[in-house]
Amino acid sequence: MRIILATGNRGKARELGALLGDRVSVAAVPPGFVVAETGETFFQNALLKARAARAITPDDELVLADDSGLAVRALDGRPGVQSARYAGPQASDASNCGRLLEELDGTIDRRAAFVCVLVALAADDTMTVACGTCSGVIADARRGESGFGYDPVFIPDGRTHAMAELTAEQKNAISHRGRAATRLARALGVAS
Ligand code: IMP
Repeated sequence: MRIILATGNRGKARELGALLGDRVSVAAVPPGFVVAETGETFFQNALLKARAARAITPDDELVLADDSGLAVRALDGRPGVQSARYAGPQASDASNCGRLLEELDGTIDRRAAFVCVLVALAADDTMTVACGTCSGVIADARRGESGFGYDPVFIPDGRTHAMAELTAEQKNAISHRGRAATRLARALGVAS
């Protein structure tokens, strides 16, 4: 099965490619693919991206879109669908992490969860949806260099290291995206 990933985010494309690569042939949408993420939920945004990619993808290929982000309990679920733009419209990973650490300064309850929703859309509009979460706490300071986004400030439950201190394999085994991808592969009948 050939799957076209509806994302311009290289970090996510790299991770999804590794997660699904053995079982399916994965390619990214052409460079410049940008979709306004105007949805109020991860599912709505994933569907917007899947539909936009569907419009430019041959019928014999499956389109796969994801939307993901970080939900922080003490912030009532923020940054949520605004995770990529938390520190402003042109925010960088570093500025988003910085704003989060500032907002949580002095906060005792640092529980949070990464959430990922995957939407696969076939040319006949058959839709397959999978969701994955990864619970943890927000660290007091940045740690580690790998991964992307909020990985340096997120410590997964049961670990003492930040997500950015884990190898790609270690992250994929516990991440929201890894869990969603495993469920999606099962639902599509392409699980290894
Ligand atoms: P979107 O799914 O492109 O709207 O943006 C997701 C945003 O959530 C990313 O830009 C990151 O800030 C954050 N995010 C999603 N998944 C991860 C992850 O695995 N690690 C760290 N940050 C993530």
